Amino acid sequence: MKVRIQVVVEAENGEPEKVEEIARLERGTLRPEDLGLTLAEAKVLLHGMQQAVVTEQIAEYLEQFKTCPDCGAHRTRKGHHPLVYRTLFGKFNLVSPRLYDCPCQSHGRHSSSPLVELLGTHCAPELLYLETRLASLMSYGLSVELLTEVLPIAEEISPTSVRRHLQRVAERIEGELGEEQVQFIEGCPGDWAKQPPPGPPLTVGLDGGYVHASDQKSKTEGWFEVIAGKGVQTEGGAKVFAFVNKYDTKPKRRLYEVLKSQGLQMNQQVVFLSDGGDTVRDLQHYLSPESEHLLDWFHITMRLTVMRQMIKGMTAELKAGDKCSETATGLVDLEKHLESVKWNLWHGNVPHALQRIDDLDDDLEMLEENPPNRKKLEKAAREFRTYIGANQAFIPNYGDRYRHDETISTTFVESTVNYVVSKRFVKKQQMRWTQRGAHLLLQTRVQVLNDDLRKTFVRSLVSRNETGRTCGAKGGGIEVSAPGMTRSPNAVQGSLCTFTLRVTKYCIYRYE
Ligand SMILES: [Zn+2]
Repeated sequence: MKVRIQVVVEAENGEPEKVEEIARLERGTLRPEDLGLTLAEAKVLLHGMQQAVVTEQIAEYLEQFKTCPDCGAHRTRKGHHPLVYRTLFGKFNLVSPRLYDCPCQSHGRHSSSPLVELLGTHCAPELLYLETRLASLMSYGLSVELLTEVLPIAEEISPTSVRRHLQRVAERIEGELGEEQVQFIEGCPGDWAKQPPPGPPLTVGLDGGYVHASDQKSKTEGWFEVIAGKGVQTEGGAKVFAFVNKYDTKPKRRLYEVLKSQGLQMNQQVVFLSDGGDTVRDLQHYLSPESEHLLDWFHITMRLTVMRQMIKGMTAELKAGDKCSETATGLVDLEKHLESVKWNLWHGNVPHALQRIDDLDDDLEMLEENPPNRKKLEKAAREFRTYIGANQAFIPNYGDRYRHDETISTTFVESTVNYVVSKRFVKKQQMRWTQRGAHLLLQTRVQVLNDDLRKTFVRSLVSRNETGRTCGAKGGGIEVSAPGMTRSPNAVQGSLCTFTLRVTKYCIYRYE
């Protein structure tokens, strides 16, 4: 069997239709691998069809600029320039004419390039979207491999170009973020009382992670901090956010916008849970009058568990003859006091907990021998004391909250850092990041994880079209007819193409 595939352009004004052959297929005795199209054939077909459609569209678009819209006079050409435009289905080297304005429009010899004004970004929004989406989830290199595997764009994209495109998208998203403010509380108590009853409390978890820096000065300085967080609504629904600490100039605005997108009202309760670091502590203030700030119980127990394991290790290493020695007794006391630290903290009794931590120090001094791990435990106990001391204002009565079904911990925050940061940034240890590169990638990554990237793209296309840079000629809508395939200008949700194209019908397949 022989199959010819053609693009037929039907003219509107009575001219003969244009027929262009795209490909010929030959099939012999049917084998499973010959049924329908192969990926390689599909790529050739898509590229061929794209070429045919693009050529027609460009010709038709430029046609309208050949004459003056007011007096109908012919506009003279000043020259032309090559214009490269990348699409999902191939790169096209277009010729962009430069035309003098009609003397009736402007005095002097002004000229313009309509095609540059239309396609000056050099990259189709849909390709930009797909590159951004994939590179937010996997490495730049893998994204290129995947795209070139399935689309006819081999050798036309590179990890560097994908990164540049992603950063362009991220910068646009950043540009939409409002100004930073010290506080975001709006209105006064009188206004809040008039608001409708708020939804259930919002829980926000904040935590930090570390990313390998590209400008590593020393072993200890080679990392920078990334803050990641998650806003969780009681009745389902969660949104993540992230930024590079000290690089980001609008962290508070970023968090506020996440909460606002989750429907935050000023009379609504917000519970912030964090590991108590300075950055996250400052970040959560002045966002809501009804906010509560707690040290995440998860972080307390994690530190206590580490210390308990050290004591267990020391006990296990006691020699048989030492089982009843003073060291053995000292270790038993240590464990008891540590348990007491935990009990006091659980009940929010910070002064007693701090005393019990001091007891740990005394116990350690009592150990007659010098078991391994003693130094480590001393250090851990000292750090824990500082940690609890610095965060005492954020330690509630966890036991009481727990009994009243109130949030005390967010193990999800730990996994948020893993989910938002580690999976894309830390997997390959040899990968190094600049703060800007990491920050911008985080912005597109959270958009993808929150399922917002497509909406962001559609929004930017719509706003561009509204500001006059229309993606196509005036009037009409694209009509594409093919077996099982339709596209209307309103199909914004399904496709990124909000282009309105005054193109006549394309009959895409014609079998013989
Ligand atoms: Zn004119």
